Amino acid sequence: MKKHNFSAGPCILPQEVFKEASQAVLDFNDSGLSILEISHRSKDFVDVMEEARSLALELLGLEGKGYKVLFLQGGASTQFLMTAYNLLQTKAGYINTGSWSDKAVKEAKIFGEVIEVASSKDANYNYIPKGYKIPEGLDYLHCTSNNTIFGTQIKDFPTTNAPLICDMSSDIFSRQLDFSKFSLIYAGAQKNMGPAGTTLVVIKEDILGKIERQIPSMLDYGVHISKGSMFNTPPVFPVYTSMLTLRWLKKLGGIAAIEEENDKKAKLIYSEIELNPLFKGFAKKEDRSTMNATFSLINEDLKETFDAMWKEAGINGVNGHRSVGGYRASMYNAMSIESVAALVDVMSDLERKA
Ligand SMILES: *Cc1c(COP(=O)(O)O)cnc(C)c1O
Repeated sequence: MKKHNFSAGPCILPQEVFKEASQAVLDFNDSGLSILEISHRSKDFVDVMEEARSLALELLGLEGKGYKVLFLQGGASTQFLMTAYNLLQTKAGYINTGSWSDKAVKEAKIFGEVIEVASSKDANYNYIPKGYKIPEGLDYLHCTSNNTIFGTQIKDFPTTNAPLICDMSSDIFSRQLDFSKFSLIYAGAQKNMGPAGTTLVVIKEDILGKIERQIPSMLDYGVHISKGSMFNTPPVFPVYTSMLTLRWLKKLGGIAAIEEENDKKAKLIYSEIELNPLFKGFAKKEDRSTMNATFSLINEDLKETFDAMWKEAGINGVNGHRSVGGYRASMYNAMSIESVAALVDVMSDLERKA
């Protein structure tokens, strides 16, 4: 039986995408060939890449606004250094809202001065800093829209003259935003778009070419743009599967439609966390993520019982990250509200029993 999969990443994808992707492994487009054995230069695959790139722009509402879409390798972790390599000449600002931002800061320091404009490290990242001052003269300002581990999410993005860069790995395509506020968005595919192995980069072309250092070709956004995201062999299967997920999302009605579902799911779990006296939430209420809900048992003695109950209910992947403890329910786009209801049922069953 299919489990209710709350895993934080890699994670759930639409069931129909799994089916279609597996079919393409056996026979892609009735070609008598697998998607895994055709040339990445063949028309069939070039069409996949082009459709994936244009769907991403369309869903984000960024068509005709000077943006390019790339599907790169090396995960979001490579973007931590690639952004700085390509864009950091003297100093950049970072908003440190979690372990992933912290890692981005560490990489950027290799290339220039890094100003930590704001941080919530003092409270183990359980909130999003607000009311901070952004210095002038930054090469860019970097932020993380959703903090996967801690369950916080930026609701109001900073306003600055500097190009705004955002790691949207765990909430891309989940909510409506004015994406044109950002000069560069990146996201590892494996949280809300596809399998691990590719990273989406959406970049406003006019921010490039402003630094003096030489950039190795594989790490140069300009090179990847000039080659249509096919400078070298792209990760064909992750790109294909991501394209299928983007098609699925478009068919559903795009980001507006999925946002409505995501809000319902988040409301359901957070109201249980609030009302059930056995549980407490981790993230500050106004900063709570619609993608990853972090919570814990008030009485740890109930852990064994609770763990056995959710396993029995066919639930998977709700253990919290080691740096937070407790539980984390990740509710990405493909998760149905029925799965969230199954978890909520177990939580309220526990209350009845305890
Ligand atoms: C998972 C995650 C990453 C790391 O992604 P990789 O593709 O594994 O390098 C970076 N940032 C955020 C916000 C994440 O959730």
